[in-house]
Amino acid sequence: MFCPLDDPSPLPETYLRNAPPPPLAPPLAGEVKADIAIVGGGYTGLSAALHMAEQGRSVVLLEARTISSGGSGRAFGQVVPYAKHDHAHILAHFGPEAGNRIVDALGAGPDFVWSLIERHGIDCDASRQGLLFAAHTRSAQAGLEARAAFWQKRGAPVEMLDAAATRRAIGSDYYAVALLDHRGGHLNPLAYARGLAIAAARHGVALHENSRAVSLAPEGDGWRIRTERGSVLARAVVVGTGAYSDDLVPRLRSSFVPMRAHQLVTRPLSDNLRKSVLPAGQPITDTRRLYSGMRLLSDGRVHMSVDGPAFSRTGSVFMAKATARLRAVFPQLGEPEWDETWTGWVDITADQYPHIHEIGPGAWAIIGLSGRGIAFATLLGREIALRLAGRPESELFLPVTALKPITVRPFAAPLVGALMTSYRVWDRLELRSRPRATGSG
Ligand SMILES: Cc1cc2nc3c(=O)[nH]c(=O)nc-3n(C[C@H](O)[C@H](O)[C@H](O)COP(=O)(O)OP(=O)(O)OC[C@H]3O[C@@H](n4cnc5c(N)ncnc54)[C@H](O)[C@@H]3O)c2cc1C
Repeated sequence: MFCPLDDPSPLPETYLRNAPPPPLAPPLAGEVKADIAIVGGGYTGLSAALHMAEQGRSVVLLEARTISSGGSGRAFGQVVPYAKHDHAHILAHFGPEAGNRIVDALGAGPDFVWSLIERHGIDCDASRQGLLFAAHTRSAQAGLEARAAFWQKRGAPVEMLDAAATRRAIGSDYYAVALLDHRGGHLNPLAYARGLAIAAARHGVALHENSRAVSLAPEGDGWRIRTERGSVLARAVVVGTGAYSDDLVPRLRSSFVPMRAHQLVTRPLSDNLRKSVLPAGQPITDTRRLYSGMRLLSDGRVHMSVDGPAFSRTGSVFMAKATARLRAVFPQLGEPEWDETWTGWVDITADQYPHIHEIGPGAWAIIGLSGRGIAFATLLGREIALRLAGRPESELFLPVTALKPITVRPFAAPLVGALMTSYRVWDRLELRSRPRATGSG
């Protein structure tokens, strides 16, 4: 199966033009020693590096390409207090004790991100106005109501909006009802990742770009990691290579399926039009199975997360579908003028949960954020720092699991491809009978 590390597609200009310059990160040269070596310069690796450096450890971070050139520099930008599955699934899958710890940790995830942004002065266009989730069917509406009730019981600021409030929040009467989760928000993902890198460097982390780890082997009471021009000898290692993982860690790649996610951005809207789109500043997703995210960027562009080929090396976003969706929800926009499209890869595990694996004594891998990584990967970076600092298991939230290859992985593209085709059909059919803000629907 294709390794996304070989995908040369560039980082989005939409993010680059508003991101701070990256910190200095020369390629690793010669032999160095450190307490901890980290492989991968996305949220997982950067957050782990920052939190370990804050504990006073010496940390070296190796990134094969440039900092945040993986999923972290390409994400849609929603900071969500959720995993791929909802609270009920988490509680059933992990059991009440671990499940409740995970649900609580995720619920506090956006606040953790906002606090890091504030503490480290990260300039990433962060907007903390909340997140909108609109119902596309009556049963999805019931699901949102159950979600709101669950979180309200836990004291979280989550509410259901009626038709009038939904219309005001979205700037459209396309949806009749929505959930507003005040905990979340959105940001420039690349700028956030670079901000974490800058903070890590300030705390003494040695960052090395263009330094692909090509081997990882035990040596003495630690690990030797080699790159093309140097090596690190460290007491502990954390691998956070996400969907872009190569064969550095045996069997890691076969424990997930990399899937390509597509993004699309319009030219800036006129002042009048931009006031009419998502005027309260929240991004919106709806309850369909496939991509549906839309947000207004601070420079007046509409940004959409859209459907497209999930496995091919080439192949572009389904533009006509994106145009139709934008026009359906915001008819006032007319024919959209698209400005940029890009893709990134997400690491989907068999159970669609991230995993922490101990790949050897003192060597760890975090994998499988399954498309929910801005808050979750940042949390897991801190989690691994706490684990390595000796925190008891009862104070950590994600249990360690054994690394298991997905046996049907060679057939993943046709299997998942067929599933996605059926999802597209279901979504289209269900949308026709969505609850309406006006009329009987
Ligand atoms: C298009 C898209 C939209 C998304 N939207 C959202 C969203 O709105 N909200 C949300 O929460 N999440 C979203 N996600 C998911 C989120 O971006 C990811 O879960 C997160 O970025 C994963 O972070 P990571 O650090 O684990 O991996 P990555 O950011 O992918 O970083 C892994 C890094 O490891 C490096 N690497 C690989 N192999 C080696 C090696 N051998 N040596 C050195 N370095 C190596 C890679 O170059 C890469 O930079 C989205 C993802 C995509 C692709």
